[in-house]
Amino acid sequence: MQIPKEIDEILRRLESAGYEAYLVGGCVRDRCMGKEPHDYDVTTSAFPNEMKRVFITERVIETGLKHGTLTVLTAIGGVEITTFRQEGSYSDHRHPDQVQFTRALKEDLARRDFTVNAMAMDRRGVIADPFGGQADLADGIIRCVGDPRRRVEEDALRILRGLRFSSRLGFAIAEETAAAMEEKAPLLHFIAQERIFSELCGLVLGKDCAAVLHRHRRVVQTVLPELSLDGALERLKGTPAKETLRFAALLMDSGEETAGVVLSRLKVPTAFRKEVLLFIRESPKPCEKTKKAVHARCARIGAEAFLKLAVFWGKDEFYAQTVAELKKEKACLSLKELAVDGKDIQALGYSGTAVGQALNILFEKVITEELPNQKELLLSYIKK
Ligand code: ATP
Ligand code: MG
Repeated sequence: MQIPKEIDEILRRLESAGYEAYLVGGCVRDRCMGKEPHDYDVTTSAFPNEMKRVFITERVIETGLKHGTLTVLTAIGGVEITTFRQEGSYSDHRHPDQVQFTRALKEDLARRDFTVNAMAMDRRGVIADPFGGQADLADGIIRCVGDPRRRVEEDALRILRGLRFSSRLGFAIAEETAAAMEEKAPLLHFIAQERIFSELCGLVLGKDCAAVLHRHRRVVQTVLPELSLDGALERLKGTPAKETLRFAALLMDSGEETAGVVLSRLKVPTAFRKEVLLFIRESPKPCEKTKKAVHARCARIGAEAFLKLAVFWGKDEFYAQTVAELKKEKACLSLKELAVDGKDIQALGYSGTAVGQALNILFEKVITEELPNQKELLLSYIKK
């Protein structure tokens, strides 16, 4: 697998200025697994001001420079280059109190979370792996670098990162690491809900999420105490890897109200929350397999949400085909397609909230196919 030439050029520039430079973290892990990385991180012995000098002719973003990160803008997007760092103590269980730059690669790798994430590779493909990342990769194991108790105590988010990697890669968590995660799980209360949510997303999207949730349920229960896991595990296995669908599968048995409480606490975006709650509410009521029923349901909840929801009702192609037909016929699936609008209603003498009410009555009649979607007929109906 070739390193993209833009990345190789960055490594070459640092090297020819006399510094060490490596790919590091997720991109090395992915490449060792034969997977194309989704982005490349570079680490170097050059200190921040030295990096700046090496890339003086390039377009860069300096916002992270205090923490040792310079972003170089290339044809394939921004590439983050970070000075080798050591991290000091962590008093808030999340952020190091101070970072210290170092010239030693090994010290930088030692601060990283898991052995499979603590490897570096130079532009010739030579791998530095002081903590046995390649062996753990081959055995399919997520293992903390160093003493797991200390490492998860420093930064409790690592607990959920570990579960996420386990779920995504299908790796087991090493026994001692898993024990430390369970013991220190209460420290997750120090972590911002947004970060927890983002890791949970990765976790539920992973191919092994059901197994990971089951194996590490005591950890999961500290962030989702409301969860009733038994039904969720089976359901998750059959649910496509879309975030809202997976969250709905996860929270279905807890009921809509509890799910709402969980999602509020996790501070999920409103649209996300609405969609999950809609799935939880609607999925126990499969749509009848008639065009009329599909039409009515699509109009109530929106065609896009309907199509996602349909996966809970079995693989049937019928729903997808019927929605496609309805769209092709320009069927009335929302107020937009109704043959009359607010102005038409006002022309009949309605005003204020009565306009919206009249539109909704007509919409309801059209989607239940009691009235055809034709202007004259609708207006004469509402005139009465
Ligand atoms: P992904 O493919 O999900 O991006 P990644 O391994 O690149 O996986 P990132 O969150 O992008 O994960 O982090 C990049 C690297 O930084 C990690 O591989 C790891 O070496 C290090 N890292 C990130 N977060 C932490 C953390 N909380 N504690 C220690 N090291 C971390
Ligand atoms: Mg990454």
